[in-house]
Amino acid sequence: MPTTRLAPSPTGALHLGNARTFLINWWLAKQNNWDILLRLEDLDGPRIKPGADRQAMDDLQWLGIDWDRGPVYQSPRADLYRAAVERLLASGQAYPCVCTRREVELAASAPHAEDGAAVYPGTCRGKYASMHDAERAAGRVPVVRFAVPEAPIEFVDTFKGPCRFEPARELGDFVILKADGTAAYQLAVVIDDAEMNVTDIVRGDDLLDSTPRQILLYRALGLAHRIPRYTHLPLVVGTDGRRLAKRHGDTRLEHYRRPGTTPQRILALLARWCGIDAGREASAKELLAAFDLQRLPRTPIIFTADDDRFLRD
Ligand SMILES: [Zn+2]
Repeated sequence: MPTTRLAPSPTGALHLGNARTFLINWWLAKQNNWDILLRLEDLDGPRIKPGADRQAMDDLQWLGIDWDRGPVYQSPRADLYRAAVERLLASGQAYPCVCTRREVELAASAPHAEDGAAVYPGTCRGKYASMHDAERAAGRVPVVRFAVPEAPIEFVDTFKGPCRFEPARELGDFVILKADGTAAYQLAVVIDDAEMNVTDIVRGDDLLDSTPRQILLYRALGLAHRIPRYTHLPLVVGTDGRRLAKRHGDTRLEHYRRPGTTPQRILALLARWCGIDAGREASAKELLAAFDLQRLPRTPIIFTADDDRFLRD
């Protein structure tokens, strides 16, 4: 059974931008008969907000977005991630790294990844025989990095079309296990998606450069046959062109819910952002037939003061 996953982050409340991505994911699932799994990616310890998981589920249900399986949490699955890291270390596809963030910044002379993070220059690659060895030599607990191979990665995105990355040059060896022993996002989602039979991933453009990293991990773990189809969607941005965030005011669903904005009003705006004229009120189900991925705007959606007024009056 083809399966997709909704993965709200329990680090904060759903805002209009996330809601649009989840809505599109839900529409695509219903149109294509995908099973929907709800997964809460709660590995980012210090950033997790208590109760944000329940809030996210409540916001989704309020909008009329439901799921068939879950919620599944990542934190109880730590041993699985850890075992995958051990396998990658044993096969030489990963290695311990003891560089501090500052050392990485200083050593990375030229390229920076799209998200502004420095491309790790490979300082520790091949330097230490084991985690223990690295820790003893450096006097601190190492992270584990994946050794990115030289070859380019190509894939066809369902919405964007052909994509090509040179991960070694553009992304660098990335962290798969943090010093506190928790798995990094890239590793955990690959293990989960493979094991939970996820075949279709729909997410924001901001995660496009995660895809080559994840494809590399599928291959390295012998899971190449499980690589899903990807659909990356343009984000909702503020009038300054930057992705929707606190600086654009409060765009959390909760912020509109409290004074009485209906889900139908929010859905009408989200639909308009998908190229559907839904008037002033609509429901996720009613709009299902009208949604067409190919009619989705190809450029970022701009959230304006008019949109805010539309939700309030
Ligand atoms: Zn290092």
